[in-house]
Amino acid sequence: KSGFISIIGRPNVGKSTFLNQVIGQKIAIMSDKPQTTRNKVQGVYTTNQSQLIFIDTPGIHKPKHKLGDFMMKVAMNTLKEVDLVLFMVNVTEGYGRGDEFIIEKLKGIKTPVFLVLNKIDAIHPDQLLPMIEQYKNLYDFKEIIPISALEGNNIDQLLKEITEYM
Ligand code: GDP
Ligand code: MG
Repeated sequence: KSGFISIIGRPNVGKSTFLNQVIGQKIAIMSDKPQTTRNKVQGVYTTNQSQLIFIDTPGIHKPKHKLGDFMMKVAMNTLKEVDLVLFMVNVTEGYGRGDEFIIEKLKGIKTPVFLVLNKIDAIHPDQLLPMIEQYKNLYDFKEIIPISALEGNNIDQLLKEITEYM
């Protein structure tokens, strides 16, 4: 099984941290500053049964200038070409305007989308279920998977779900 997977989400939700966890190398630039990831960075996760090619997109956000507008288009075109989209959110921040903008964009593509709830290490477990219910009402996510990219929690489960979907 093999396929292309694009990771999207607001700046600082943990996309690069996740990619680094999966690939086990520091291939994506990590920073607390938003939008450090300006180019598509690809990482390949290979096991004897699967090959998953991950793409860390430039941020999808409401463009404030021409360059931002161009980057948005690059990111959106990427989404149409992949087999699966991972939409990552930060559970410590919850649903916001940035997520709303991305979900609106997702409604315009046919690619299946998994919702990845990241940074579960930083919240109380009781907070998770209401958040899942909220996101379920916003979009028809094929799967909803809570993880901690930083601590590596549930990454194996997510990779398993992705592989099964390919
Ligand atoms: P990106 O902009 O989406 O690529 O986000 P980064 O991967 O650069 O991460 C932004 C910040 O969030 C960094 O300080 C990371 O260490 C932190 N971070 C990422 N994943 C987690 C997580 O699972 N838990 C916690 N507590 N922090 C995280
Ligand atoms: Mg990044």
